Amino acid sequence: MNAAESTVVHCPACGRDCAGDARFCFCGVDLRAAPQPPLIGVRGWLLFFCIQIAILAPPLTLLNVSRELLDLVRLDALLSRVGAMILLDSASRLTLAAIGVVAGVSLWLRRQGAVAFVRVYLLAYLGVYLLLIALPYVCALPAEVRGRVAAIYFQRAAIAIPSTIVWSLYFRTSRRVRDTYAAAAGPSH
Ligand SMILES: [Zn+2]
Repeated sequence: MNAAESTVVHCPACGRDCAGDARFCFCGVDLRAAPQPPLIGVRGWLLFFCIQIAILAPPLTLLNVSRELLDLVRLDALLSRVGAMILLDSASRLTLAAIGVVAGVSLWLRRQGAVAFVRVYLLAYLGVYLLLIALPYVCALPAEVRGRVAAIYFQRAAIAIPSTIVWSLYFRTSRRVRDTYAAAAGPSH
């Protein structure tokens, strides 16, 4: 009886020390359940994320950017204020796409620091899309179109921001992410 009471069980989920005879941890985890095997490997949502940012997004970005630049050339507006705006916009999107490829490949190769890199990438993505809303004002577009163009940027940000937040939460809480990259940093590497 005394021995059982003095034993301390380490909760596998939150790390809290629980009484040896406790069935559940405060966090709700069943302390007597068999430990779950680690989820190691770039599969599931993690694989989906890698494919999206390293394979699907870059050609789409390239396509959109080149279409906009061609329109500018056709309208002979490359050196106008709109031209400056679209060039800045294109440069930001291409840079994000390039960082995305690096992030996706480092995740895929399970490089050390890959998850930290992805977190920075997601933050940068969020920041760039928010900053782009100010672009029509920074480039001093004529007042009659400024608001409308800003609304388009705002709409784009409104689409980008929720997915960025969801992926940030995923990388913070996913067991697969934790197990896969903990294994990558381990001595067996
Ligand atoms: Zn717990």
